[in-house]
Amino acid sequence: MSPAGRILHITGQVQLARAIALVVETGIADHIEGHAHTPVELAESLNLHAGAVHRLLRMLAAEGIFAEDEHGRFHPTPLSSVLASGPASIRDLLRQPWQDIVWATYLQMPHTLKTGEPAFDAAHGMPFFDFLAANPEAGGLFDAAMALISEPEDASVAEAFDFGAYDTVVDVGGGRGGLLAAILRRYSDIQAVLFDQPQVLEEPSFLDDSLLRRCQLVPGDFFSEVPAGADLYLLKRILHDWTDAQVVTLLRNCRDAMLAGGRVLVVEAIIQPGNAPDPIKAQDVGMMLLTHGRERTVAEYSALFEQAGLTLRAVHPTAEPARVAVIEAAV
Ligand code: SAH
Repeated sequence: MSPAGRILHITGQVQLARAIALVVETGIADHIEGHAHTPVELAESLNLHAGAVHRLLRMLAAEGIFAEDEHGRFHPTPLSSVLASGPASIRDLLRQPWQDIVWATYLQMPHTLKTGEPAFDAAHGMPFFDFLAANPEAGGLFDAAMALISEPEDASVAEAFDFGAYDTVVDVGGGRGGLLAAILRRYSDIQAVLFDQPQVLEEPSFLDDSLLRRCQLVPGDFFSEVPAGADLYLLKRILHDWTDAQVVTLLRNCRDAMLAGGRVLVVEAIIQPGNAPDPIKAQDVGMMLLTHGRERTVAEYSALFEQAGLTLRAVHPTAEPARVAVIEAAV
C-alpha cells in the first residue's frame, strides 16, 4: 500500500468504528445473534432502510463481523457475537450514551494538543470522574466497561503475586470487585476490603454471598484517606488517572494506612522505550484526553514511590491476556 493509501486506510477505520456501534445500538447484532436475517427482514423489524443496512453489513462482513450466505442472509460470527447481549458482551461500551461521550471528547482533541489539558473537560464542562458521579447512567456504563476490561486480567494479576503471605488486602478504587473476587477465590484465608465511591459500591457484581463474608465494602474518597490496618494495598488502573502530585497523595494515604511490613501493589500498564507497536501508547493518549493522568515508565513510578516515602521492591509480570505489571512497593 502506498503511504497515502495506508494513511487513508487508517483514517477510514472511523467508519468501521461507527458502523460497529450502530449495529449494537439499532439491535441488528441482537437480531442476527438470534438467527440469520436478510437486510430486508432487519429493516422491517427495526424500522431501518434495507439498502443501507445491506451495504453496512457487507462492509462489516468483509471484516469478519457477520457472514453472508448465498441467500443473502447474514449470520453471527465470533466477532459479531460479542456485540450482542449476553455475558461476554462488550455492547455497553458501544451503546449510544457512552459513544456520545467519547465522540464529543474526540471533537475537542485540538484543545488537548494546545493546552495539555483533557479534551473531556472541554467537551463536558467538568473532569471525568466528577461527570461520572453527576451522571448515574454514564457512571454505571463506565463501571461496567471497566469491569469488562478488567475481568480477563484479574486472574493473571491474582497469580502474579503471592497474596498468601498477607492477612488483609484493600483494593483501593476496586470498582465492582472483580480483582478481589479472583484473589479471594485463590487464597482461602485472606480477608478483603473493597474501597470505592459510594455509588460504585452499590453494585459489587463480582462478589457473591460467600465471598462477601470475607470482604467488607467501604465507601470513601481515596484522596482523603483509605481504610487503615491492612497489610496489602492494591491500586489497579488507578494511578494512571491522576497527576504526579495526586499520585503522591494517594500513595502517601496508602503508606499511612498500612501496617508495618505491608506492601503497596500498583497494577498498571508500563510504558516501554522505543516505537515498537504497543497498544499502551494509544491507552496513554486515551488517558490524556479523558483525565489529567498518564501511563508511566517503571522509573517514573519508582520516583513517585520515593516522594511518598515508599521504595520500589519488585516488578512482577502478569500472564496473557493481562497487559499490566504488578509493581510492589514497601516503606
Ligand atoms: N480498580 C478497578 C477500577 C479502576 S477505574 C479496575 O482495575 O477495574 C477507577 C476507579 O477509581 C473507579 O472505580 C472509580 O470509582 C474510583 N475512584 C475515582 N475517584 C475516586 C475517589 N476520589 N475515591 C475513591 N475511588 C475513586
